[in-house]
Amino acid sequence: MTTIPPSHPRYLSLKTREQIAQGMKQGIVHETGLIAHGRGEAFDYLLGEATHPQAEAASKVAAAALLTAAHPVISVNGNVAALAADSCIHLAHSIPAHLEVNLFHRTLERMEKITALLQSKGAQTVYGLAADERIPGLDHDRALCEKNGIFSADVVLVPLEDGDRCQALCAMGKTVITIDLNPLSRTAQTATITIVDNVIRALPGLQQWVVALNDTPRSDLAQMLQSWDNTHNLKTMLSFLSKRLNSLG
Ligand code: ATP
Ligand code: MG
Repeated sequence: MTTIPPSHPRYLSLKTREQIAQGMKQGIVHETGLIAHGRGEAFDYLLGEATHPQAEAASKVAAAALLTAAHPVISVNGNVAALAADSCIHLAHSIPAHLEVNLFHRTLERMEKITALLQSKGAQTVYGLAADERIPGLDHDRALCEKNGIFSADVVLVPLEDGDRCQALCAMGKTVITIDLNPLSRTAQTATITIVDNVIRALPGLQQWVVALNDTPRSDLAQMLQSWDNTHNLKTMLSFLSKRLNSLG
């Protein structure tokens, strides 16, 4: 890995780029993942590379949804594996939830590499490789999933998801949580709970909420989820963004 001095003012951003680039060289990240990362970076820049109160609020209710779920599953793709494999594993352990490797550009080789990476870092059950079901309404291999994993999950966390697949998962009646820096993406707009934040900050933040809410009565958590207004939260986020841009101009 190229050595980036920690004193560099853009150290974290450059280190993260390096992780994505390495992920591609290792066959974990698809080349289009580099483009998706660039779009994410641009939004993160506009957000001041910080976690905002709207993201905190969404994380809190996402933790409530995951803790009250009967069968929660965390979906892992190439970018998420390259940037936040450890965070996914810790989060899955805390809830507890299962992990499923679910790729837009699915190849057996990449599925195996990401599964092996997660297992080498201590993940217990990793669904995905033995896909035996399809998400209805999606063509192509991106619909493939496991019957005991995403297919039967009641709550799914899909960081950096594609808009079509997010919609299809919602149409199956699932509670869909996403992490997406772009508040305008179809994924952000259609998920049940959208955390507008970088996965490298959002996943550890979500984990902290899971731990903090673990002793809260389940009925209180269910109430939090029921009263969640995702559209309102996204509007507040967009209004914050436009005010921030105005104040900088
Ligand atoms: P959609 O299909 O939902 O409309 P899109 O086509 O705009 O989304 P994709 O190319 O599918 O976007 O990329 C996934 C999304 O992930 C983008 O919206 C991008 O902003 C976001 N993203 C990229 N990197 C990160 C990251 N590190 N943390 C959070 N979000 C990210
Ligand atoms: Mg897309």
